[in-house]
Amino acid sequence: MVFPPLREELRGLEPYGAPQLDVPVQLNVNENPYGPSPACVADIAEAVSRAAATLNRYPDREFVELRAGLAAYLTRDTVAAGFGIEPAQVWAANGSNEVMLQLLQAFGGPGRTAVSFAPTYSMYPEYARDTSTRWVQGHRAEDFSIDLDAARELVRAERPSVVLLPSPNNPTGTALPPAAITLLCEAVGDHGVVVVDEAYGEFRRSGTPSALELLPVHRNLVVTRTMSKAFAGAGLRLGYLAADPAICDAIRVVRLPYHLSAVTQATALAALRHTDELLGQVDALRAERDRTVVWLREQGLEVADTDANFALFGRFADRRAVWQGLLDRGVLIREVGPDGWLRVSIGTPEEMTAFREALVEVRRES
Ligand code: PMP
Repeated sequence: MVFPPLREELRGLEPYGAPQLDVPVQLNVNENPYGPSPACVADIAEAVSRAAATLNRYPDREFVELRAGLAAYLTRDTVAAGFGIEPAQVWAANGSNEVMLQLLQAFGGPGRTAVSFAPTYSMYPEYARDTSTRWVQGHRAEDFSIDLDAARELVRAERPSVVLLPSPNNPTGTALPPAAITLLCEAVGDHGVVVVDEAYGEFRRSGTPSALELLPVHRNLVVTRTMSKAFAGAGLRLGYLAADPAICDAIRVVRLPYHLSAVTQATALAALRHTDELLGQVDALRAERDRTVVWLREQGLEVADTDANFALFGRFADRRAVWQGLLDRGVLIREVGPDGWLRVSIGTPEEMTAFREALVEVRRES
């Protein structure tokens, strides 16, 4: 017997994770480059200090106050459509990664199937693997959109209990039109849930609607969000979803009791009190993204259309050499996606200048 006695399908596998390197310009994990203001930091510190005084007690297992705060925040995106999000429709966990693992624990499992469309977020097959859910990978078109007829056929043939659809997609930045979500929700029907992963939702270009608007129409629709990206809270580890209350109740069966610590709940609530400030740089980041796309295209490179805070660009005969050349100049980006492509997160104007200068040098030398 090999030690440790790991599940057979996990043997020899490496843990997921981008390199965490201490370099001056870090543009590799789609973080928000702007940290919280001193006033926000002080509010968080005070909230955590209050929570610390009762750490002998378990936290609110149902995180009622936090669910209400998140529901109020999401209602900003639905109020124009004439409805609000109720706290009973909201669920949260330690990052949207954990939210999605819980979704797979509740709706996936042995004998069940999960589907997504590659290239897409590389954690999805891992959630399936870890919950012993069968994984079926559909494919995207050359421009990274989803061929809807093919997608409907795949769903009819495989009868998945979970469909994972990031919008905007990672690593391509592609957003889904509402018609695609409707078509897939209808094709899946009551056999499964359709998870629209809006980790980068707040960065979408104006005119691109949120899938939240479709919640009253499709009871099998789940929309996930995170405080890690636009909200500038990657270190906080707080992801959440909005869905039919019956879906939230189903997740409550598989969640570990007290999975959101009192410190996490206090920090997230304090951050929500500073929503406008924390989201204050989103417009600047979107503008910087659009400038970056234009500039990359001016350099003769291909760039996927993007609604997110990153851009996928290429194609390079040896992308590893370009990635390494940038790193040698202190700029860390991500080697991810189809062969030949690289992904850069959008940073501050100074960081993007460093990226552009380094890329020009690397290409000149190669
Ligand atoms: N979904 C997508 C598409 C992502 O890119 C990421 C993070 N890179 C996540 C979910 C998970 O983010 P978090 O766990 O920080 O909420």
